[in-house]
Amino acid sequence: MIAKRACALEVLEKVSSDTLKAYVDQNKCTGCSICYDFFTCPSILPLPNRKAMIDDSCIGCGACVEVCPFKAITVKGEKPVGWEEAWNA
Ligand code: SF4
Ligand code: SF4
Repeated sequence: MIAKRACALEVLEKVSSDTLKAYVDQNKCTGCSICYDFFTCPSILPLPNRKAMIDDSCIGCGACVEVCPFKAITVKGEKPVGWEEAWNA
C-alpha cells in the first residue's frame, strides 16, 4: 500500500496524543485479518478468535479505519492541540 499521509510515527513525534485511540467493534469484526496481516501498524493484534484488537500503543492516527472493509474500526477521543497541523505538515 502506498501511504497517502505523513507517517504516524513522525506525527507522534510532533504531537503527543493521550486522548485519541482506535477501537475495534467486536460485533462488526469478522476476523478477516486484513488489518493485522496486511496492514503493518504494530498496535493492531489478533485475538485467539482471529478478531482484531488494538493495544495502548495506538496514537489514533486513523489510517486503519480505511483499511477495514467491514467498518469495524473507529477512532474515539479528542484531537490534541496541534494535531491537524502536525498531520498535514
Ligand atoms: S480488517 Fe476489520 S474485520 Fe478484518 S480483522 Fe481487522 S478489524 Fe476485523
Ligand atoms: S489509529 Fe490505527 S493505524 Fe493509527 S496507530 Fe492506532 S491502530 Fe495504528
